[in-house]
Amino acid sequence: MAQQDLKIAILGAGMGGLTSALALANKGFKNIDVYETASDLGFVGAGIQLAPNMARVLDHLGVWKGIEAEAVNIEETSVRVGASDTELAHVDLHYIESTYGYKHMVGHRYSLANGLYQGCLKHSDKITFHFATSVSEIQSFGPKPTFTVTPRDTSKQPYTSTADVLLGADGIKSLVRVAMISDLNITSDVKDTQQAAYRIMINKDQIREDPELLALINSTKVTRWIGEKRHIIAYPVSNNTIYNLSTTQPDSNFAAATNATYTTKGSKSAMLGVFADFCPLVQRMLNYVPEGEVCEWKLRTHEPLPTWVHQSTALVGDACHPTLPHLAQGAAQAIEDGAVLAVVLSKLPATDPESIHKALKAYEKVRKDRAYALVELAAASGRALHLGDGAAKEQRDKQFAALKAGKGPVPDKWADADVQKEIYGFDCVKEADERFAEYFGLA
Ligand SMILES: Cc1cc2nc3c(=O)[nH]c(=O)nc-3n(C[C@H](O)[C@H](O)[C@H](O)COP(=O)(O)OP(=O)(O)OC[C@H]3O[C@@H](n4cnc5c(N)ncnc54)[C@H](O)[C@@H]3O)c2cc1C
Repeated sequence: MAQQDLKIAILGAGMGGLTSALALANKGFKNIDVYETASDLGFVGAGIQLAPNMARVLDHLGVWKGIEAEAVNIEETSVRVGASDTELAHVDLHYIESTYGYKHMVGHRYSLANGLYQGCLKHSDKITFHFATSVSEIQSFGPKPTFTVTPRDTSKQPYTSTADVLLGADGIKSLVRVAMISDLNITSDVKDTQQAAYRIMINKDQIREDPELLALINSTKVTRWIGEKRHIIAYPVSNNTIYNLSTTQPDSNFAAATNATYTTKGSKSAMLGVFADFCPLVQRMLNYVPEGEVCEWKLRTHEPLPTWVHQSTALVGDACHPTLPHLAQGAAQAIEDGAVLAVVLSKLPATDPESIHKALKAYEKVRKDRAYALVELAAASGRALHLGDGAAKEQRDKQFAALKAGKGPVPDKWADADVQKEIYGFDCVKEADERFAEYFGLA
């Protein structure tokens, strides 16, 4: 059997699952099944950063041009004191494109997901989507992964399916991850970050009479307002027709909730209360959110896993490396995973389960240390942004002051040139291509 004949089952049609399916189809794999609990891609009302490392992969997969056409190019960023709106740092980002070959853009999550999905639909002879269909149990991880598929339509019976390769791209609450660590007798707890986030979108029509906000929505700028234990990051998306805000604040609403709850309809007055001491501009922005449309997300991560691979099964994206959003790299890293998986599986020298396992371990080699380093960095950046009064904050603010004078690191790691070099300068596809033989041999 040629590697392209392998039967690949992908759980989840999020960023990681869609990228895996598209990248594999581009490599000629023709038996790809994607199982997705939701009835369609959904329309999650939120923005997303399309960093150069993500853009590079999307371009390689042939879907970047369409996504780019709806996105906004970010040319500058401003970090400000939430309470006073005083600027702490301003970073010109023009160098990003000339340094990394891609602009730093921001877009609508739907635009990104749909771009990937449309790319998949061009391979409808190779990829079969099973929407409104959950995988409810994993019976075996190899040599032929076996699992139970449960259609939402109760007139259809659950059935057992098998594949040669199983990819668990089923998100932060991953069933595959839980089953895998249980089978491997590993403990890896869900980490409560004690942080939550509001996701807010303001339409241009709502702010026509507000010149200050109009200037922001028409800009090419990411703005971050920071305060103790809280911040807001904001940028325009969808060709400057929507202003997207994402906040981080101490989690109080989910604290008592069950583990199953990750998002909830928030209360507008509670949201306003959290940022009550932020400046009038922020207050006004938050006030534009219609009552009943406040959406709050619980931010959770996991303890790092010792492995992402069990027999012929691998984890992808948030299933194995969920992150705080402060580096804006969660989806980008899930997308890197998908692209690398396609490279290693396309290079399989043989299609027996042992070779498949070794190829998946090569994927882990390319991806795991990098993804976990970025998870750590995102958490550290959040800690620096959220400092309250004290020596550490004084030190941080000295760094901001030095930056104004033109030197030193940016405490907001997202905007720091050295951090960007680590994140954006890495070509995961090239790395997988060049090091496959070495990593395959090590496994
Ligand atoms: C506040 C916030 C802001 C963020 N901002 C950014 C950003 O700017 N840039 C960035 O790169 N990332 C960002 N992220 C992170 C990013 O959204 C995630 O890392 C990314 O969506 C993970 O993709 P995934 O495919 O691994 O998981 P998901 O997108 O969660 O997809 C998993 C899919 O699996 C399906 N599924 C689950 N269980 C099953 C099952 N048993 N059977 C079938 N289907 C199943 C789910 O329905 C879902 O569609 C942010 C996250 C948050 C919380």
